[in-house]
Amino acid sequence: MQFAKRLEKIPPYLFAEINRKRNELVAKGVDIINMAVGDPDKPTPEWIIQVMHEAVDDASTHNYPPYQGTQEFREAAAKWMQCRFGVAGLDPNTEIVSSIGSKEAIHNTFLAFVEAGDYTLIPDPGYPVYRTSTIFAGGECFPMPLKAENNFLPDLSAIPQEVAHKAKLLWINYPNNPTGALATLEFFEELVAFCKRYDILLCHDHAYSEMAYDGYKPPSVLQVAGAKDVAIEFHSLSKSYNMTGWRIGFVAGNAIGIKGLAQVKTNVDSGVFKAIQACAIAAYSHSSDAELQTVISVYQNRRDIIVEGLQSLGWPLQPPKATLYVWTPVPPGYSSTEFAALLLDKCGILVPPGNGYGAAGEGFFRIALTIPDERLREAIQRMRDAGIRYG
Ligand SMILES: *Cc1c(COP(=O)(O)O)cnc(C)c1O
Repeated sequence: MQFAKRLEKIPPYLFAEINRKRNELVAKGVDIINMAVGDPDKPTPEWIIQVMHEAVDDASTHNYPPYQGTQEFREAAAKWMQCRFGVAGLDPNTEIVSSIGSKEAIHNTFLAFVEAGDYTLIPDPGYPVYRTSTIFAGGECFPMPLKAENNFLPDLSAIPQEVAHKAKLLWINYPNNPTGALATLEFFEELVAFCKRYDILLCHDHAYSEMAYDGYKPPSVLQVAGAKDVAIEFHSLSKSYNMTGWRIGFVAGNAIGIKGLAQVKTNVDSGVFKAIQACAIAAYSHSSDAELQTVISVYQNRRDIIVEGLQSLGWPLQPPKATLYVWTPVPPGYSSTEFAALLLDKCGILVPPGNGYGAAGEGFFRIALTIPDERLREAIQRMRDAGIRYG
């Protein structure tokens, strides 16, 4: 049997490679500290689980859900956008659609808008799905390098006019995976203006909207006046409520963007289990800031352990204000791949090399804050014992 050609064009999924390597070492009996995968280690909050128990006992949740999400779910999402970001007036019927977690909706947006000969403007380094889904759709990626000297924001003036004219989608993600960088509303304004000029659908992957520290509250791109003319935003409960396995989120914004995505989805999936939608409604409608803080403070504490630990080993590093990651340079003289291999061989520490997220990630590695505090401390200790320092 032969795979379709499109599969041959897909680079190996970053985490599939990482998991394979880990399994090899685990089989050899090595105690691996896995700081590679951004999957929360804590359980979903108990009160959400209680909602699930009740919802699953209710037989009215058992049949096919509406493709676009239940009316109640879309209304809860619209209200949350207003309470959380001050984005008023989103129409639950035309400007919001449920998603089976963001990843599905991200992929299907490419199928809805990209065809052969079209460009997608994608962040580099970035979430690998933007690249692979461009390939699935038959388009061409134009990577926008995120450089430290630009605070990991793309330089729009570096995008050639002819590329911009052929671009259908521009992807951004702030707070950013993997760099932990933030964007201001002013930068979102520039993006909205750029996408209006070239008739591009601006896609903001907001997976970390709630995962911010030290009191910082990330903005929504839909706060920009006129953003709804060109922008859609992808929200997910995965990271904010330790719900990666539940698979629920929503996309909000431009009605044409939502309509295209919904049309693909209607033909591909059959929506989200209504009991899970009930849990999401509860999270969007009744969750207090304090409840969210109990999830977030765990990561903020871990961030401090890692940042202080790396600083004590000579790393030049400021604590990131958001995301589950610390993105940091490899010591001078190493490539990303060499340094990741060194950490694995000498310390049994698994981290993704920065270039795994795109060529512009070269020179960096990423630490995920999704393992217990004592394991993070042990990782720093192993590095210290192995004589690994920055510079
Ligand atoms: C985790 C993540 C997602 C996907 O989250 P879902 O579980 O599919 O909702 C999307 N984008 C980025 C940048 C992520 O890190």
